[in-house]
Amino acid sequence: MIIVLDRAIRDDDKDRLRRFLTDKGFQVREIVGEEETIFGAVGLVGIDLREVEIQPGVVRVIPISKPYKLASRELKKNDTVIDLGPIKIGGPRIVVIAGPCAVESESQVMETAELVRNSGAVILRGGAFKPRTSPYAFQGLGEEGLRYLKAAGERFGMPVISEIVAPHQVDLFRDYVDLYQIGARNMQNFELLKAVGATGSPVMLKRGQSATIEEWLMAAEYLLAHGAENVVLCERGIRTFETYTRNTLDISSIPIVKKLSHLPVIADPSHATGIRDKVLPMALAAVAAGADGLMIEVHPRPDEALSDGPQSLFPVQFEKLMRDIEALSPVVGKEVSRIPHVRTKGGGGAGRTNKPRRAGEPGEAGDGRMLIAFQGARGAYSEMALRRYFHNESFTPFACRHFRDVFEAVLGGDAAYGIIPIENSLAGSVHENYDLVLRYPDLKIIGETKLRVEHSLIGVPGATFEGITAVYSHPQALAQCDDYLREHATWELTPFYDTAGSVAHIADEGNLAHAAIANAQAAEVYGMAVLKEGIETNPRNYTRFVVLAGTDEAEVPDANMASLVFSTPDQPGALFAAMKIMAEASLNLKKLESRPIAGRPWQYMFYVDVEIPTSQEGYAAALTMLEAAVEDLRVLGTYRAN
Ligand code: PEP
Ligand code: MN
Repeated sequence: MIIVLDRAIRDDDKDRLRRFLTDKGFQVREIVGEEETIFGAVGLVGIDLREVEIQPGVVRVIPISKPYKLASRELKKNDTVIDLGPIKIGGPRIVVIAGPCAVESESQVMETAELVRNSGAVILRGGAFKPRTSPYAFQGLGEEGLRYLKAAGERFGMPVISEIVAPHQVDLFRDYVDLYQIGARNMQNFELLKAVGATGSPVMLKRGQSATIEEWLMAAEYLLAHGAENVVLCERGIRTFETYTRNTLDISSIPIVKKLSHLPVIADPSHATGIRDKVLPMALAAVAAGADGLMIEVHPRPDEALSDGPQSLFPVQFEKLMRDIEALSPVVGKEVSRIPHVRTKGGGGAGRTNKPRRAGEPGEAGDGRMLIAFQGARGAYSEMALRRYFHNESFTPFACRHFRDVFEAVLGGDAAYGIIPIENSLAGSVHENYDLVLRYPDLKIIGETKLRVEHSLIGVPGATFEGITAVYSHPQALAQCDDYLREHATWELTPFYDTAGSVAHIADEGNLAHAAIANAQAAEVYGMAVLKEGIETNPRNYTRFVVLAGTDEAEVPDANMASLVFSTPDQPGALFAAMKIMAEASLNLKKLESRPIAGRPWQYMFYVDVEIPTSQEGYAAALTMLEAAVEDLRVLGTYRAN
């Protein structure tokens, strides 16, 4: 049953309710959703629901109609997202697991790991205990294979998955894998399900060769009932009368299971088809059908593979598959997961850690100070914004060349936070950053700050106006100082990739005839002289910056602003319907902008900033209604705006 708790339930009432249920023989799971917190209670026992309903702090009790309870969407409306450190499975992302069918040698798995990672896979697969039809076929390297797999995963910063075939292997696997795999042949090996479930570790459950969807979900229920929380389902084809393919990929099971269950579902077109050249079209079909990811067999030399060679992709085929999936994913409102480019200092690629961070941890400068990423050279406007926002903290600014590097640095744990400009009061939105915020669903906006843009003319110490012949700066800054520059028509204007960078450039050159336009602080950073302050044409020039953090820090208690993005159905009044929901919930709209959707020509995403009233209940209810009225709703962040 589902027990919806009062938002204001007291902790002691919650404890008492939990005890009441466990005493009656129920297993209790607390599920904290965006709108409500519930207890899911399952067990062999029967109870009169009214007995539960009268307990203090209970709003209502709903029986779960399906035989699978913990796996069911009735219990949990939101998608389960499985956290494997730097990689997450589920929600708005597509995760590609790739690797050889079997680990054959250390060099083979290393070589495969490198090539699949370079093409964009984020989790490494490799069987060490192979369930083969023939006892005379290669059975796998056993523990030695697990050791090689783990070493390859560590070297390339990829979590690893391998198939467990017997309950007694649970402890052995714990030392080596991030994700247990239960194979098709063992889907209903209930003792194995119980043993793996009891580890509480993430597990991928393949659909049995002849299993109905309900049997598959019941097998997942075994895992969940015995302690697993993070179960990924994998459709890998079923037995039918068709003999052309090894199995028949049941693509319709994907949308069906997505509706019945909150668990992520991935597809394995390699085992489903058994034929290399059928893997790409079936992979695309699975993603189009709503799969949260793919498992693909790849071998550096498939002709030499010790198992499943005919279905293993050549490296170039895998690369093509990744490119096509990348192109398709926006059509289904998802992004392909990637491993952050920036590697955690000290290697390992272990990803983010929770606060509090200590010296030497990811996101730390090594002296106990947080690293905060910004784009541009030292002294950039973004660095000023960062100083303004984090003025109470001890931090070290971390300069990145491109905006994307800021996202990668935060995602990879190299920086604790990132700051990016999102719009300028004169020039409008920084579209690149709006697009990047969408492409990195594992980062959230947790704050904002606005900065007045005041440009200065900066020269090498000793420079005079008369001696200047050339001025360097970002094209936008040159345009913003148009009136002033017209008064000096003889100066040659040279675009530069960023304002502070242009100051660094003239400092390097040391040429008295070359000046730059940037903020006055940049002059200080590079030991240059401010020749004239306030040269911007319009003094009312502001840039709004947002602060990014990993989703583990996305809770901002006194949030008063939310940034949302969604698309609407292609029908009259669709946007109006969304606006009406916000209006009726008294959400004050601060910004509405449309952007083209990558991969869907002439279709648009709407970016919306709304003020959240002090009582946040209306906001939560409006979000639920919006979810039903629009497509692909994403909350980019709820944060405190000043
Ligand atoms: C595998 O993934 O290695 C495998 C044996 O797959 P399945 O259990 O789907 O046959
Ligand atoms: Mn295989």
